[in-house]
Amino acid sequence: MLIQHDKLRAVVRAICTAAGSTGDEPALVADNLVYANLTGHDSHGVGMLPRYISCARAGQLAMNQHVKVVKDEGTILVLDGQTGYGQVIGGEAMALGIERAREHGVCVLSLRNSFHLCRIGAWAEQAAAAGMISMHYVNVIGHKPLVAPFRGGDARYATNPYTCILPATDNNPTTLLDMATSVVAMGKVRVAKNKGEQMQEGALIDADGQPTTDPNVMYTPPFGAALPFGEHKGYGMALMAEMLAGVLSGGQTMRAETQRKDDTILNGMLAIIFDPRRMVDEDFYKSEVDATIAHVKASPPQNPDEPVLVPGDPERATKAEREANGVPVDDATWEEILSAAESVGLSRSDVAGMSA
Ligand code: NAD
Repeated sequence: MLIQHDKLRAVVRAICTAAGSTGDEPALVADNLVYANLTGHDSHGVGMLPRYISCARAGQLAMNQHVKVVKDEGTILVLDGQTGYGQVIGGEAMALGIERAREHGVCVLSLRNSFHLCRIGAWAEQAAAAGMISMHYVNVIGHKPLVAPFRGGDARYATNPYTCILPATDNNPTTLLDMATSVVAMGKVRVAKNKGEQMQEGALIDADGQPTTDPNVMYTPPFGAALPFGEHKGYGMALMAEMLAGVLSGGQTMRAETQRKDDTILNGMLAIIFDPRRMVDEDFYKSEVDATIAHVKASPPQNPDEPVLVPGDPERATKAEREANGVPVDDATWEEILSAAESVGLSRSDVAGMSA
């Protein structure tokens, strides 16, 4: 089904409110999840809500929390998300980091114990809107491991994203690289499972360490694993993220000792936020970024239907299309959303009515 983005936001807000979120929290969760759908990242869109609600009901996600400063060294901040909604905690953490980067030129912040920070690009976009560059290394603890190290036959860590943004110029929007370090983000495996589709080759191995395209190996024991992108290179980036985000935040890395028997998704994040205008003249920044983008985009496409893009372009194109035509929500995901609504006392027909 196709649902208009404003209606989808209303559904998410209603479910979060019924679950017990107050103040801005329902709107922050709704805006963040629906924005992920709009930009084409259904893996991090409204399909996450049922898991958030079941974790909130089980006390694994604490509603109505705010970020806590653990350590303040001026340009270095250590923050604790107190297992609150990542949509609230991520925004508050970035606001603190941006304020410090305005004052000092740079802020290195680490954040622990945030419930799922969802699409990390959202936090980078917050920095870019303030004229800052930001880089993010993210790890996960809580749920079972998902990704095998290069040469490994079972999962040892999660899809540990890396994100970097360059602010817009007068002629170009932001350049935003925002990616999982696995071949595919786990949510994309969930979307394939819900649609009854096979995954691409080279993304998964089964419990015996053999290649498979069956998304169910990630959901039904004995579990398989996702593979890192780019063999040893993606694995290396993921391991750096695991340690930079997990160790320096104090939130810990994914190991048997830190694993829980539930569905908790606690993100750790190391973010480096800095002001490019403290390094080079603003006009130089803009003209060099524009010239570089023009230079790479002028490369003749191998396939005329697939021109060279820069990171961030696919998301912008999908957003324009989905804002106009609606957000596709598959039947299994919609059923999960209706069940989540029911679990917090809303009627399925009321929620279905909101989406129509
Ligand atoms: P993806 O593979 O769809 O895109 C990765 C990046 O590649 C994007 O920046 C995109 O703009 C760029 N890109 C795509 N096609 C391109 C092209 N032809 N030319 C140039 N650039 C191109 O993303 P993904 O790896 O599936 O990650 C999806 C989302 O999942 C991200 O927002 C990420 O932050 C999020 N994520 C979050 C967690 C978490 O624990 N919170 C974990 C993993 C991933």
